[in-house]
Amino acid sequence: MIDTQRSDYFMTIGGQPAASLSGATFEAQEPALGRSMATVPLADKEDLDLAVAAARQAFDGGLWSRQSGQKRTRLLLKLADLLWENLDAIATVEARNIGKAISSVKGELTQGISELEYFAGAATKIQGRTNEAPNGFLNYTTREPLGVCGLIVPWNYPLLLTLRKLAPALAAGNAVVLKPAQQSSLSALILGELATEAGFPPGAINVVAGKGSTIGAQLAAHAGVDKVSFTGSTAVGRSILEAAKTDFRRLSLELGGKSPALVFADADLDSAIPSTVWSIFYSAGQSCDARSRILVQRPIYDAYLERFVELTGKIRLGDPLDPKTHVGSLISPEHRASVEAYVAQGLAAGARLIVGGGRPSDPALAMGAFLQPTALADCRNDMSVVQEEIFGPVAAIMPFDDEAEALRLANDNAYGLTASVWTRDLGRAHRVAQKVRSGVVTVNQPFTVFPGTPFGGFKQSGWGREVSLEALGEFTELKSVLVYTGERPLDPFRLG
Ligand code: NAP
Ligand code: MG
Repeated sequence: MIDTQRSDYFMTIGGQPAASLSGATFEAQEPALGRSMATVPLADKEDLDLAVAAARQAFDGGLWSRQSGQKRTRLLLKLADLLWENLDAIATVEARNIGKAISSVKGELTQGISELEYFAGAATKIQGRTNEAPNGFLNYTTREPLGVCGLIVPWNYPLLLTLRKLAPALAAGNAVVLKPAQQSSLSALILGELATEAGFPPGAINVVAGKGSTIGAQLAAHAGVDKVSFTGSTAVGRSILEAAKTDFRRLSLELGGKSPALVFADADLDSAIPSTVWSIFYSAGQSCDARSRILVQRPIYDAYLERFVELTGKIRLGDPLDPKTHVGSLISPEHRASVEAYVAQGLAAGARLIVGGGRPSDPALAMGAFLQPTALADCRNDMSVVQEEIFGPVAAIMPFDDEAEALRLANDNAYGLTASVWTRDLGRAHRVAQKVRSGVVTVNQPFTVFPGTPFGGFKQSGWGREVSLEALGEFTELKSVLVYTGERPLDPFRLG
């Protein structure tokens, strides 16, 4: 069993626990209490080189890449079993490390392990196809693993997003080097230990800890890495793109979002209002798919706002480890300051504060990076609070008159990750789902993803799709094999 109180963590390199070669460490934080909770190795380029070399060996030597699909399934399920057994302990560590409510973290780990199981099953179902070819020729395709994959993960859903990349990468036969965000490294370090316990070949799963600006950037540019799968901000995504262009390294990019909820006057408001409260304030708004823009049809605008404020007032902020807590702290005081600056900008631009707007008064929360769930009404599309990803508990709400205006407002944004539509009109639901420019549309419900359903964005929200079978495509190369089956010798120049 994982010890939730332990104070020292190790990386996993080549199947072994590893400190950094330099001996350098950093302190993992507990943002709801404003203190540190554990010591973690701080890797630099030398440690990263060892991890990439170990992954190369596992891949090039065939130790992992040429295992049968069935063997890969078994090991991935073994890892899933170890995660289920340790779910409560890992959730406790993760909730402390990022300040998120334990009930949310447990749900996210459940989702992450379920995705791992989904891809464990997929490892035996990696398929090619045969294509029409001229008489005498046979064409078939195969999917081969890419090689060594660098997985770079943000802090907001640490283990869930780690498993979301790790599972399809390994199912397809790749070896991985995983770099969690520095602010949320602990669950990934635990995962590395569990992978060794599960019996993965040394080097198939390597976990390094350290700074994005050093080892993250170096991993993204590493000559020994065939593919980078990155989830994080659009700004860092752009630098990953730059780093990949020298040798055309394969990329998947899951980036930012500014997702709209479109609430029509005919919607079932008893579902729509609590769900739109949830879909912005869950995880303190620190979700890439947060429905942070709420567009409400004018006839119900005032009634919507009134009930939205009332329900938002019932959200329990508090100790992340209290099972009754709905929402914990933000990831850091610095991040809170950036969210507060956005609220100030919105107010200066003429938005109307209808709930929240400040830090909670409860003295028990004074040391943590807490912020009240906040909503700004009467927003306009030219405001920064409407256009930019705040990544905090701030809803930007605005009215619209008709479907065409709702779509125009919804699509007038650089991002295109998710969108929700709330209406009882079936035709409208499908029309809006077709016309809204986002990778996922949810109709009369707020949940973005289940194991097996595609997830990823249009526009500046990224490249590629995760969670579903498409993710196997992202972690494989397609090979086309053309065979001559004719009985005569081939003589393309007609020399004979
Ligand atoms: P971030 O600053 O972009 O960091 C993401 C990861 O990249 C972290 O592991 C970070 O390491 C690393 N990193 C930082 N600078 C790097 C560099 N120059 N080269 C390579 N790696 C680097 O994002 P964040 O602040 O952690 O997370 C919030 C963002 O993630 C939001 O924009 C959110 O929308 C996005 N997100 C998207 C999805 C999705 O699926 N579309 C899901 C969740 C979050 P360090 O943290 O250690 O510096
Ligand atoms: Mg960051």
